[in-house]
Amino acid sequence: MRFLEKCIFFVMKCKEIIKYLDDWAPPGIAWDRDNVGLQVGSPEAEIQKILICLELTPEILKESLEKSCNLIITHHPFLFKGLKKINLASDKTSQLLASLIKNDINLISYHTNLDFTKSGVSFQLAEQLQLNSVKFLTPLEAKQSKIVVFVPTESAESVSEAVFAVGEGIIGEYSECSFSSEGIGTFKGSESSNPQKGTKGILERVNEQRLEFICSNWNISKVINAIKAFHPYEEPAIDVYPLSNNTTNSGVGAIGLLKTPMQQEDFFAYIASRLKIKNFRFMRSNQKLIHRVAVCGGSASECIPDAIAQKADAFITADIKYHSFHDAHNLICLVDAGHYETEVAILPEIARRLKENFSSIADDIFVTRQSTNVIEFY
Ligand SMILES: [Zn+2]
Repeated sequence: MRFLEKCIFFVMKCKEIIKYLDDWAPPGIAWDRDNVGLQVGSPEAEIQKILICLELTPEILKESLEKSCNLIITHHPFLFKGLKKINLASDKTSQLLASLIKNDINLISYHTNLDFTKSGVSFQLAEQLQLNSVKFLTPLEAKQSKIVVFVPTESAESVSEAVFAVGEGIIGEYSECSFSSEGIGTFKGSESSNPQKGTKGILERVNEQRLEFICSNWNISKVINAIKAFHPYEEPAIDVYPLSNNTTNSGVGAIGLLKTPMQQEDFFAYIASRLKIKNFRFMRSNQKLIHRVAVCGGSASECIPDAIAQKADAFITADIKYHSFHDAHNLICLVDAGHYETEVAILPEIARRLKENFSSIADDIFVTRQSTNVIEFY
């Protein structure tokens, strides 16, 4: 019966999954040079099963075929450097691309937008280490504007709802944030106008509300379209003001407190046990106890100065260079826990959210059981 219900009533399109993930990890917060979102396939494709992994490899592709998954979600973009030739004889990316297309498999990637969003990659790493009072290590510079719209009182609610529906009006942990004030709007339509209220050529005075919302810059056109769709006037008055606020909705890395301060040796054992890793590189500091810990999944040596400035006792990231260790010597305890190892915790979180939001296909959403880490220790 359940199978029949699915077949008859339920069609999940790729674009619905993209929309849901975009709300969590907006593409607008990704690096400018990144390539996130749909990589291969169609937003209109009907999705039956989903496989989640850090990166696409031939083995992952094989697994998706075995499980009949027609959507693969990767953290690292499949197409990143720019594919100029499709050489099926010798280029691995070309071969994978051809197989994806041949087998009708769609692929989407959530990379630095998933790194920089709340509950993203670094927050999951902090969670794995059971850190408390977790915040962004370096909040991202604001990319927000204030949208002000003047709307006749009777349409104010529907216009507000339209703005909230496209995910705007968010301040920190609060959604649907707005401000309204009442006033009188005036206008006189020209001969070619077609006013919704009053008569052209005659000055009108109308009870209006001034509505204000905070809006992400990458979403401005979407918000303006949403306002226009619900605003009754032929020419709605909409103002966009750039803001210099520091947003708390996105940032690089995370910082929090261990439940109890630990000796450095105990801290290293704790990392090994919590991240389930046997080998990692580290540099001791002259600090006796570790309590305040900064983390950043993946390669984030550039955040070492931020971790020091935030008075972290230790910083855990990956791909730290020899000279970066030296530069931070005696200033902080550094741990290079591996790129794969510091990012892999995001996969079950993606699955958990998708299963919760798309419960009718919850049984068909898989995190790969394969490790795509190709690095070994001798
Ligand atoms: Zn990475």
